[in-house]
Amino acid sequence: MHMVQLLRYRNNNMSMATTTSSFVFLKSHTLVPGHTKTLLTQVDGFGSRTSTSYKGIRAQSDVQKEQVVIVGAGIAGLATALSLHRLGVRSLVLEQSESLRTGGTSLTLFKNGWRVLDAIGVANDLRPQFLEIQGMVVKSQDGRELRAFNFKQEDQSQEVRAVERRVLLETLANQLPQDTIQYSSELERIEATPNGDTLLQLVDGSKLLAKIVIGCDGIRSPIAKWMGFAEPKYVGHCAFRGLASYSEGQPFGPRVNYVYGRGLRAGFVPVSPTKVYWFICFNSPSPGPKITDASVLKKQAKELVKNWPSELLNIVDSTPDDTVIRTPLEDRWLWPGISPPASAGRVVVVGDAWHPMTPNLGQGACCALEDSVVLAKKLARAIHSEDPSVEEALRSYGTERWPRVFPLTIRANLVGSVLQWENPVVCSVRNNIVIPKLVRLGPLLEHTNFTCENL
Ligand SMILES: Cc1cc2nc3c(=O)[nH]c(=O)nc-3n(C[C@H](O)[C@H](O)[C@H](O)COP(=O)(O)OP(=O)(O)OC[C@H]3O[C@@H](n4cnc5c(N)ncnc54)[C@H](O)[C@@H]3O)c2cc1C
Repeated sequence: MHMVQLLRYRNNNMSMATTTSSFVFLKSHTLVPGHTKTLLTQVDGFGSRTSTSYKGIRAQSDVQKEQVVIVGAGIAGLATALSLHRLGVRSLVLEQSESLRTGGTSLTLFKNGWRVLDAIGVANDLRPQFLEIQGMVVKSQDGRELRAFNFKQEDQSQEVRAVERRVLLETLANQLPQDTIQYSSELERIEATPNGDTLLQLVDGSKLLAKIVIGCDGIRSPIAKWMGFAEPKYVGHCAFRGLASYSEGQPFGPRVNYVYGRGLRAGFVPVSPTKVYWFICFNSPSPGPKITDASVLKKQAKELVKNWPSELLNIVDSTPDDTVIRTPLEDRWLWPGISPPASAGRVVVVGDAWHPMTPNLGQGACCALEDSVVLAKKLARAIHSEDPSVEEALRSYGTERWPRVFPLTIRANLVGSVLQWENPVVCSVRNNIVIPKLVRLGPLLEHTNFTCENL
């Protein structure tokens, strides 16, 4: 059967996931963990690998054949699966965890994120649960108000809400056909086969042969690594984050609050009538050890802002332990000619797996959502009409998205550097001249313009 015929998906309810007992691979060597980098230097492109140029996963008879496999059930993976589903393409989502991520804090989504959530039909499930943020206020560490902005005054179409990550993931997942997500399925090895399919081996030893692989496996993406992307780079600051809970109702107005100090800044934003998201971002020469003890994290966070407006300390104190985390901030700059393209053959990366960016513009998840609809539209067209080919569709996704995500990654990084300045003179100029007199919010939020049709 012609490959594209195999790819064609005609019926949403028809299961393409078949387990064959007779699928045999061409090469029968074990891929030694850690050899993936070597493998990449040995071949000049996904499609041009030959059976002798790589070490293959040992041939097995039980290989599950799939049309589209998405690795990672985060925002990018679920939004891509749902976008494809809306366009009549079934996918299988492999997630390493036993369930959707239930902890975590919140994400501020701007109008570009909401446009995508509208397009894939989940925005109106989410909107009633989360407050619309009207504006933002910027203060210095002594509590002095430096400037206040109103989002709608700058741009009538702006929409800002912080959504709980857990709720966003559940809402996306609930719209997918049953059995789309396969949990406890950690990808361990990946291998190209000579006909362009991809063999995925999971930690439990099971194997899948996929026509198309979409890597939505986050900032530490094994798929991006396999494709030759550099490790994300630590940018010199870390963030404490948490989601404070107020059973009697939280006391804050619907606006983002920022407090800027020297080499240190904090912020909080009401998420819902009972929850408030907060962060404290501090300079550190190294990412430091991983700490999971919430009491230690809270203590360290409070120590940083102990002389700052007391509302910050109260918010940290009102935070349940399971939502407090400390994250080193990292990004990856997709330099043209140096960084690999977003796709190699029929393997492609989406969201943080491709373009991890610092959270200074609140655009990582928003861009992951944008990626998912752009990719899904191109891919579904290729699958349904055979023109363009799947490989061309994936290439076109990368070409369209790169000018969007590369400058944003740099911009987010630069904004972070400015906000983390330590020099007292520079900070004084920033707080007394730049923020009160020079900053204009409109141009700063132009990157939130994004249009897409409903799927
Ligand atoms: C401090 C901070 C604040 C942020 N704030 C915002 C914000 O306000 N607004 C915003 O838009 N963005 C924000 N972001 C960015 C946002 O969190 C990310 O861009 C977004 O989560 C990316 O989604 P993703 O699906 O690409 O990756 P992830 O959310 O990381 O999901 C990856 C998934 O892949 C799975 N996975 C990984 N490896 C494997 C494997 N080998 N096999 C199977 N599954 C695997 C993981 O378990 C996970 O479920 C922030 C980031 C940080 C660090």
